[in-house]
Amino acid sequence: MILILRGGIDDSDLEIVFERLTALGVTWHVARGAERVVLTLTGDDELLRTAQLEALPGVDRLVATQKPYKLASLDYRSERTTIRIGKRTIGDRKIVVMAGPCSVESRAQCFTIGDSVAKSGAGVFRGGAFKPRTSPYSFQGLGREGLEILAEVRERTGLSIITEVMDTRDVELVARYADIIQIGARNVQNFSLLNEVGKTSVPVFIKRGMMTTITELLMSAEYVMANGNENVMLCERGIRGFDTALRNTLDLSAVPLLQSLTHLPVIVDPSHGVGDWRYVVPMARAAVAAGADGLMIEVHHSPETAFSDGVQSLLPSRFDDGMRQIRKIARAIGRSV
Ligand code: PEP
Ligand code: MN
Repeated sequence: MILILRGGIDDSDLEIVFERLTALGVTWHVARGAERVVLTLTGDDELLRTAQLEALPGVDRLVATQKPYKLASLDYRSERTTIRIGKRTIGDRKIVVMAGPCSVESRAQCFTIGDSVAKSGAGVFRGGAFKPRTSPYSFQGLGREGLEILAEVRERTGLSIITEVMDTRDVELVARYADIIQIGARNVQNFSLLNEVGKTSVPVFIKRGMMTTITELLMSAEYVMANGNENVMLCERGIRGFDTALRNTLDLSAVPLLQSLTHLPVIVDPSHGVGDWRYVVPMARAAVAAGADGLMIEVHHSPETAFSDGVQSLLPSRFDDGMRQIRKIARAIGRSV
């Protein structure tokens, strides 16, 4: 059960609610958001149902949910969540495309790619300043300098910025620069990190891990939301199956499935999903057809010299052509790009 309280509830009314819950033998977790305070309750559901909690001052409504994820569930919110990022909205009719290099390598590299993806119609520039690399000897990212470059790209192109945070110690820093904070596939169940980004008010983009079930992904969203940050989006980026022909298996069924379970926007990353630029555009088309609210696509003007993920990066011209293709698919299902 979840008890939704009005954001402006005063301390004395809150105390009355707590006393009532204690009397009912119920324990609770408090999530303080900008507009409301949400109590996730553990106790006797039947008792709660008949306790007339909604009659107490400052209480909005009691919501029954049997799901392990509460705030991420459609029981909590039946209308789809839309997230405002600068002048764009994620989760409405218009599909948002996030494009850019895997890694922020230099100012010149990001300016070149940023200018071209903006012209092609992307809404968000992506680029990692902190990179989760399999080998400790591989390029680890430019760190703070990379964040500065991303801010310059935003200034120059008007694109919003998404970038990954890997370490709880960097959350404050990344939150200062990013319009959207990315939690990478490898950190999807890093609960300390999820708690920390949940304490910020910056929208959070959670990538499904290679071995993450749909329920686990939703529980990761729940961690962020339980800390008061309800601006969460989920990203399918391929899971690890038995077949090694491609880097991953892009699970596009996750799109309609997630949309039947949660109100949160669902994004697809075909680049990491297939790991080979030749299949990125076809899977981007399929993702849009499946109902994705957005796409994340890696683009590089010189894939052969890219510091990371060159093989799966589209040349700017191919990205531009891909955007034309997905626009047609979007139109066919009553959406736009
Ligand atoms: C990335 O977006 O470059 C990245 C590292 O993705 P993932 O966490 O999905 O592997
Ligand atoms: Mn990458």
